[in-house]
Amino acid sequence: MKTTTISPEVIEQTTRFHGHWCPGLAIGIRASEWALQEMGKAADEEIVAVVETDMCGVDAVQFITGCTFGKGNLIHKDYGKNAFAFYRRRDSKAARLVARPSIYGDAGPTLGKLHRKMAEQGLSEEEQKIWAETRAAVSKKIMESDLADLFEIKPPAGPMPKAARILSPAVCESCGETVMETRTRRFGGKLLCIPCFDAVEKRC
Ligand SMILES: [Zn+2]
Ligand SMILES: [Zn+2]
Repeated sequence: MKTTTISPEVIEQTTRFHGHWCPGLAIGIRASEWALQEMGKAADEEIVAVVETDMCGVDAVQFITGCTFGKGNLIHKDYGKNAFAFYRRRDSKAARLVARPSIYGDAGPTLGKLHRKMAEQGLSEEEQKIWAETRAAVSKKIMESDLADLFEIKPPAGPMPKAARILSPAVCESCGETVMETRTRRFGGKLLCIPCFDAVEKRC
């Protein structure tokens, strides 16, 4: 399979959800496309995604696959990699998609250079134009490439994440706010939320 099978409508909706069109979003759309084809859509918690980035692509994963942060079937590992693992509970099918270093093609070095300059001193009008055009070209290429050319498909790095549990609430004895029981700490015989626990601990 070559060009994306995700419909223009869904791409448009995903872009609106994310806020702009960019190479990172394109990567996320293509990874999600693989998940839809191989795993199906996560109506409930049947599919679990473990994402190793907190950037653009994750919005596509949430919008397209139905693996969302709020449902508990989207787990973030802060590794700063364009890597997305998907697990299917019913048969334990699982795979981890890792964006190949070549995913930005020849534009990689140009984008890297402009990105650094943007962060350090800002871009001239001419450079901004090159930046936008290069990103548009890269995004287009990502949408038109074969999935196998974009991602290396590896076995998942860890076991299937545990199902989201129904958690009982507790009340912090310091601030009086309701907090999930699993996120409480005991200190001096009191049940505390994490910020209150950290505050007392710092004072000691
Ligand atoms: Zn973006
Ligand atoms: Zn508290």
